[in-house]
Amino acid sequence: MIVEAKNINFAYTKNGRQILNDVSLSLKEGEVMSILGPNGAGKSTLLNLIATLLTPDSGEILLCGKDTKKMKPKEVASILSYVPQTHTPAFSYTVFNFVLMGRAPKVGMFEKPKAEDFKLVEQVLEEVGIAKLADKPYTEISGGERQQATIARALVQEPKAILFDEPTAHLDFGNQIKTLRTIKHLSEKGYAVIMTTHNPDHAIMLGGTTAILDKKGKLTVGPAEEIITESTLKSVYDTKLKLSYFDEAGRLVCIPPNL
Ligand code: ADP
Repeated sequence: MIVEAKNINFAYTKNGRQILNDVSLSLKEGEVMSILGPNGAGKSTLLNLIATLLTPDSGEILLCGKDTKKMKPKEVASILSYVPQTHTPAFSYTVFNFVLMGRAPKVGMFEKPKAEDFKLVEQVLEEVGIAKLADKPYTEISGGERQQATIARALVQEPKAILFDEPTAHLDFGNQIKTLRTIKHLSEKGYAVIMTTHNPDHAIMLGGTTAILDKKGKLTVGPAEEIITESTLKSVYDTKLKLSYFDEAGRLVCIPPNL
């Protein structure tokens, strides 16, 4: 397994709400998992725990079979990249330098990036289709381009697993689909990928595994087609939704009732 969470329990404060209640999940190479759940359920918290930014109250997080409690941040970074929600940084780094920062865990603390680091950044910018933007300030590119740059930054870290926190939030429809395509492509290339989303159609399109986190902190994990049902959607979103097979799309679509 590349990513494994075993019986995780977590609350932010001692007597606070149990955000995660005996949560377990695992991903092998090339596997993709979408996490659905209502606002405030704890999806970002779960990603933060896997990324070792938070520590579980009990349970274990393993990366490539190793307990993260025994791993240095650099070792974690050699396996895992985290793509947080897109944001506008206060400093206007060029796209190239923004992506180059993804090499930080590989480049020694007192060392400068080497020719091979620059070459890798060039290659990855080409691969994600934003080579032309290399010299532009990161603050002056569009939301869709910024998402591609953030993905490029995750890739130059050369991880085995990538976590995406709501990668389609704030993006227009075209860029949402483009991002999902990139995520699917990454899993096909062998990365283990986890993403959180508010859109059940995105989980259906991505396929693979879907996990639903409820307000009691329970995570239900299984194949997308088994987990996403009208009844589970009703319980997640507290609204009646219809799932209907759409021939032309070759998949189920999630349809809300008329207003
Ligand atoms: P989701 O990503 O599913 O919307 P979050 O993981 O962001 O949910 O938050 C889960 C719950 O934990 C929410 O009730 C939120 O208010 C609370 N929470 C998030 N971050 C913190 C924090 N740093 N300290 C205390 N409570 C937090």
